[in-house]
Amino acid sequence: MMEVQVTCSQCGSSIEVVPDVHAHKINCDVCGHVQVIKFTTDHEAGILKECPVCSRMDFYKQKDFNRKIGVILFVLAAVLSIWTYGLSLVVLYLFDLFLFRKLSMVIICYKCRTNFRRVMNIADIRDFDHEMNDRIVYSDHDFKGKPLSH
Ligand SMILES: [Zn+2]
Ligand SMILES: [Zn+2]
Repeated sequence: MMEVQVTCSQCGSSIEVVPDVHAHKINCDVCGHVQVIKFTTDHEAGILKECPVCSRMDFYKQKDFNRKIGVILFVLAAVLSIWTYGLSLVVLYLFDLFLFRKLSMVIICYKCRTNFRRVMNIADIRDFDHEMNDRIVYSDHDFKGKPLSH
């Protein structure tokens, strides 16, 4: 199931939500702001074509380095290394290199900064583009999911 993390437009808090076509709005736990949201059956299937918050189609992907988990794993590996003669640190390094980084990608909406995880059509989504970002954020340009053309 796709995981969606909406950024509250009022206070900037993160609101976690799971796609559901029957959910039309979400509430911010922190400030009580009501955010209108529009999920489709595509979203329920983990396919991201249109943003459920702002209806834009421009997204980018980036590595999702979960700092909290990373720190916990590192401390654990460091403690274990006393008994494993450093082997646990090697294991952590390999784990990080092959599994952690590959599996954890996050998709972000240029316009409203909503984060999406476990997206099925991740291959369709391009890397971050500075020019696209500037034009969407500062000039409110809508690329409609198409790449930047010169
Ligand atoms: Zn809020
Ligand atoms: Zn959006």
